[in-house]
Amino acid sequence: MAQVRIESLRKEYDVGTVVAVDDLNLEIEDGEFVTVVGPSGCGKTTTLRMLAGLEEPTSGTIAIGGEDVTDVHAKNRDVAMVFQNYALYPHKTVFENMAFGLRMSTDMSAEEREQQVVETAEMMDIEGLLEDKPDQLSGGQKQRVALGRAIVREPDVFLFDEPLSNLDAKLRTTMRAEIQRLQNELGITAVYVTHDQHEAMTMGDRIVILDGGELQQVGKPTHVYENP
Ligand code: ADP
Ligand code: ADP
Repeated sequence: MAQVRIESLRKEYDVGTVVAVDDLNLEIEDGEFVTVVGPSGCGKTTTLRMLAGLEEPTSGTIAIGGEDVTDVHAKNRDVAMVFQNYALYPHKTVFENMAFGLRMSTDMSAEEREQQVVETAEMMDIEGLLEDKPDQLSGGQKQRVALGRAIVREPDVFLFDEPLSNLDAKLRTTMRAEIQRLQNELGITAVYVTHDQHEAMTMGDRIVILDGGELQQVGKPTHVYENP
């Protein structure tokens, strides 16, 4: 069974004036890391936001983990999103930021939650930051925390919205390796949006190329770039 199944997905803005996503069909297998690439305005963010339940599709369907989550209010949507601007709660500590998603989504005891946050923090090498607030952190540390907050929930699907764009070149390389490690060690299923072709090609098991809201190509990186 596909972990993500997108069928005839369409999104219009301003009552049809803008067609941001046009008849998108895509299946993503469990453990598959799919990168979505294309020029600015091609519909990458809109696609991701519909998967995340932040944007109502105009038509079509989305299923994640076998559950229909087309409706923005679907309760059974098991995803975690990592944003370009980190989107951490500024008044909460790193620990609270990471525990917050867990509290919302599971019925664990406080001890179990704490243990899971600490284990994830150790894996992300941020265990020394757990009592800090986001404004005390560097950009790279914030993105580690944002990643940790997503991982700790063990979602069916990770949604990445250009997570490396705000980092300098050196940190970008480090974080890319970090995400690839998660890919290898945890076998995560992910939809990873980027405008960077190189990033899309090196990170994706498969690449989706969007253009003008339409799926232009989908395939393994080597295949896509040998047959442009
Ligand atoms: P990308 O992420 O690839 O840059 P977007 O998904 O952000 O593309 O945008 C796709 C198209 O939809 C663009 O033409 C954009 O201007 C338009 N768009 C995105 N969000 C809105 C919105 N809230 N209202 C109107 N138009 C929008
Ligand atoms: P990106 O380029 O990273 O996809 P944008 O800067 O295009 O992001 O969009 C940022 C936010 O603005 C998104 O929430 C998007 O929905 C919204 N947006 C984009 N284009 C428009 C538009 N033409 N009208 C209204 N909102 C828009």
